[in-house]
Amino acid sequence: MEFRDLKKQYQVLKADIDDAMQKVAASGNYIMGGPVIELEEQLADYVGVKHCITCANGTDALTLALKSLGIGKGDAVFVPDFTFFASAEVVALEGATPVFVDVNPRTFNIDVVSLKEAIDAVENEGILKMKAIIAVDLFGLPADFIAVRKIAKQHGLYVIEDGAQGFGGRMAEGIACSLGDISTTSFFPAKPLGCYGDGGAVFTNNDEWADMIRSLRIHGKGRNKYDNVRIGMNSRIDTLQAAILQVKLNAFKEHELEAVNHVAAQYTRLINQALGNAITTPYISEGYMSSWAQYTLQLTDASQRMGIQTHMKETGIPTMIYYPTPMSMQTAFSSVHSYVDTPNAQKLSQCVLSLPMHPYLTDEDIQMIVDALVANIKTGK
Ligand SMILES: *Cc1c(COP(=O)(O)O)cnc(C)c1O
Repeated sequence: MEFRDLKKQYQVLKADIDDAMQKVAASGNYIMGGPVIELEEQLADYVGVKHCITCANGTDALTLALKSLGIGKGDAVFVPDFTFFASAEVVALEGATPVFVDVNPRTFNIDVVSLKEAIDAVENEGILKMKAIIAVDLFGLPADFIAVRKIAKQHGLYVIEDGAQGFGGRMAEGIACSLGDISTTSFFPAKPLGCYGDGGAVFTNNDEWADMIRSLRIHGKGRNKYDNVRIGMNSRIDTLQAAILQVKLNAFKEHELEAVNHVAAQYTRLINQALGNAITTPYISEGYMSSWAQYTLQLTDASQRMGIQTHMKETGIPTMIYYPTPMSMQTAFSSVHSYVDTPNAQKLSQCVLSLPMHPYLTDEDIQMIVDALVANIKTGK
């Protein structure tokens, strides 16, 4: 069994993907070809945002967002402590200071009480200039953008949505990747919408930022690539990846998003039926929908987790730990000052376990995974 079965997905979509790839090969337009422009229109339309600018990967998408907002040295950017490294890495790479904020223990997303505390702490210290909040849609579930936007407005901060895992998710305010002043996503193969290599995109309704990002992604171009008006990057998506994504976006809209929601509902029903509240299944707040980048359980502690993971592996079932180390504990951030405690992030890093999740898991697969999990928990292993 695969944790995320991309080969199975290819078998299902093979005819269309092969056709799309061959067309690109024959076209000779390997950089910024027709499919890139079409994909940007299709993504902007799906998300309901004026501008979509594709780029080389989800990390660059965040970097482009920060650069377009002029964030750099001396600036503070609030980032959840429990996320993938890139969410905070980009802040430090731009010379700004990541301020780690605790997460909500149920949603895994940025906690607004901790966010307020962190803002107060930075304000009282009076050294850094507060610029932005990066709210992450962890595991496919949008962050609480209603509360985050309210706090941002009070303090004059930009909201950046790191939607690398969120594409397809929803909340009352709208669909993921439309929820920040600037939103970003990743098309890394294992993300909810993935290509066959690296890819990413930036979304915004703001014309000025969109123009800036279009310039930044091609060496700070002005009128053309050889008229360079600012220091930029080389960060484009390949035409080949865009063509693959066009096929995959259709499958995502037509059946994959629905399929992962079915898988998640089955997992939750079967696990709760067998184990009651001996184990914590993912929580989806009222009015929200996840795109299930991960299906993540909370176990009792790290030793129970290790036992379960080992035994499931022996049964041929892969599981993963997203994420074993909070940002504030990463070696790379050892010199970054902590403004608030992050007990929830610390605890989650010890007890979370993600089960296989993709649109092509069958009901039999799900039953087998749950049976293995239940057997291990009941025997106390
Ligand atoms: C994957 C991921 C990124 C980075 O995306 P890449 O395409 O791998 O550069 C950023 N943030 C989060 C939360 C992610 O999961």
